[in-house]
Amino acid sequence: MAAPALVLWDVDHTLLDSGGVSRALYSRAFERVVGRALDELADLTGRTERAIVLETMRLGGVTDPERLLSAFYLAMVDAARELQGTMRARGHALAGARQAVAGLVAAGVVQSVVTGNLRPVAETKLAAFDLTDHLDLDVGGYGDAAPDRAVLVTLAVTQAEAARDVVYPRHRVVVIGDTIHDVKGALDAGVRPVGVATGRDSAAELTAAGAAAVLADLTDLSALRLAVFGATQS
Ligand SMILES: [Mg+2]
Repeated sequence: MAAPALVLWDVDHTLLDSGGVSRALYSRAFERVVGRALDELADLTGRTERAIVLETMRLGGVTDPERLLSAFYLAMVDAARELQGTMRARGHALAGARQAVAGLVAAGVVQSVVTGNLRPVAETKLAAFDLTDHLDLDVGGYGDAAPDRAVLVTLAVTQAEAARDVVYPRHRVVVIGDTIHDVKGALDAGVRPVGVATGRDSAAELTAAGAAAVLADLTDLSALRLAVFGATQS
């Protein structure tokens, strides 16, 4: 029997496109918590929520952003729930995403997420596009836990191991993501990065960053299985 495996999905631009609501999420939260309109949003790509929110508040002239961090998180969760209909209307699951997650279900394989999003925001986005089946979101790594994705990966592995009482050989832990930050986070955590070129970073950039395999998208299930598990299928 194959060794147990853990597959950790990035969310935005890997499994789904939330229809450009990210800016609206930050704008609503900023306005509610800081009390004025948001002018400048920090760079979002591949970063975790903690880093984005703190920098956005600093850019907006908040001198002690740590103090407002938890209020900002709560406001973002509310805003995400309010905007779920907009996500559904303007966004979509990426091609093949649902079938890809379903297609990796096998004995001994656990799937979860490592994402810069807060957990309730990730859940709201995934639920908007019926992507929560087969994902154990209890063991995921989320953006309020640390600014560094490698820490989120390690956290997810540790939580999955504790929950299932197994040890995942590190070559059987796979991070699937669309940015070089996902790849770097996986490498820094000592696990296997698989790139999907459905975001801003090209296949060449993902390969150069060290991805063990790169897919154009999630539509080819046998290519995905090969990328994730290598020659020994699941
Ligand atoms: Mg992404």
